[in-house]
Amino acid sequence: MTEPVCRHQPDQLYRPVDTGQSFPALEERILAWWKQNEIFEKSVELRRGNPEWVFYEGPPTANGRPGSHHVLARIFKDIYPRFRTMRGHFVPRKAGWDCHGLPVELEIEKRLGFRRKEEIEQYGIAEFNTLCMDSVREYVGDWKNMTERIGFWIDLDDAYWTMSNDYIESVWWILAELWKQGLLEQDYKVVPYCPRCGTALSSHELAQGYKVVTDPSIFVRFPLLGEDGLQEAGTSLLVWTTTPWTLISNAAAAVGRKITYARARLGGERLILAADLVEKVLGPEAVVEETFPGSALVGRRYAPPFHFVEVDRPAWYVVTAEYVSTAEGTGIVHIAPAFGADDMVVGRANDLPLIMPVDEEVKFTDVVTAYAGRFVKEADGAIIRDLDDAGLLFAQQPYEHNYPHCWRCDTPSSTMPSPAGTCARPRARRPCSRPTRGSPGTPSTSSTAASATGSRTTSTGRSPASATGARPYLSGSALRGTSRRWPPGPSWVCWPAATCPISSSTGLM
Ligand SMILES: [Zn+2]
Repeated sequence: MTEPVCRHQPDQLYRPVDTGQSFPALEERILAWWKQNEIFEKSVELRRGNPEWVFYEGPPTANGRPGSHHVLARIFKDIYPRFRTMRGHFVPRKAGWDCHGLPVELEIEKRLGFRRKEEIEQYGIAEFNTLCMDSVREYVGDWKNMTERIGFWIDLDDAYWTMSNDYIESVWWILAELWKQGLLEQDYKVVPYCPRCGTALSSHELAQGYKVVTDPSIFVRFPLLGEDGLQEAGTSLLVWTTTPWTLISNAAAAVGRKITYARARLGGERLILAADLVEKVLGPEAVVEETFPGSALVGRRYAPPFHFVEVDRPAWYVVTAEYVSTAEGTGIVHIAPAFGADDMVVGRANDLPLIMPVDEEVKFTDVVTAYAGRFVKEADGAIIRDLDDAGLLFAQQPYEHNYPHCWRCDTPSSTMPSPAGTCARPRARRPCSRPTRGSPGTPSTSSTAASATGSRTTSTGRSPASATGARPYLSGSALRGTSRRWPPGPSWVCWPAATCPISSSTGLM
């Protein structure tokens, strides 16, 4: 056997190495050669007819210039399609540009010197949108250059733009298909919210804006009512809150089932609070008359501190909540389901009304006659004064705490029941409800919500949703009297049919 012999001369195999080689120039030469010879296009076409391998390009947000950190993500998005192509797969690659979102709006707002959302409406939404779209187009050129320069093989000439009507209509089509299959349900989630930007804030955004602030904290009397609905001999629940404005939306008072409470006499009145906190809150003069477990208070009714909004179901009574503690306050927690994630959970579990007389700028609506049009936090002072005048304020003290502010505009955040329902909810695994009437654009009234949950019953005779204590929450009548409807529209939570025990057992899908 003879040794294989190379018939080429070394100078035919390799060009002489240029020891002064410029690597950027070398890259440019290769890129130009790829382009001239349509190597990417050929690499795709050569595999046509072979098994397809699909890579969905999550499009980069094109409303700003690309940064070096974008290079890494794009390299990964290039490696796998190339690898699969080399393994023989047909891997068409379509680029995309994410054009929507607050960043582009904020940039244009800044350029125009706007500070409030109304200024956009005065300027003209169509004109404003045009500027936003122009701004996106301005940056896509930079993105294309970067993409080509790093050798990312993707079809940039046939990119999809999320601001194109084709794309938007596709999203609506998908929603319509999900709706037809009964996979959507209107819901709300309490989320952090920036009143200035008019948008919800993610937990990541929230974490960027914490500041130590001093807010008023108040101890408020909730006068107990007897069976006859009249106040019981000068006895009140004593409740502590650091957000006085949320008292307008109070729906219940929560106690800890296992916490021991005391009825203590102080001067001419009797106050109920956690036994451990009597001396700390009321001082040494208070005399404890009786102690009892929290469970003994459950169901007791009280007179709410404010009554601006009519409610469509029972409210203003004592419930229990797991998270009530005696670490601070009085051991009795004021519950406003519209303005706290924990409160919303308690509200759902007890079917409390969602009292929501606040608009999208987090100002009180006309129904709250005394404070209408005022930003809620700025109404704290007047609310405290009015509580004092009504004899309901027991004490107040400044409360220093870490409070989240909007990272974009430095405005103190609020919490709001957002119509922007998310899919990442634990209860996505509960049985889904099949709406029986309405359409995706209209079913936000209580009658439709009721039909959505009441259309089927389980073997226990309860509707699937109420069986898990999770009925659609906001009803039209809970908003009665509010001048502006908020949340402004329906939102939809979707979960896969496979996880829905009802649909899989009944074959409804
Ligand atoms: Zn903001």
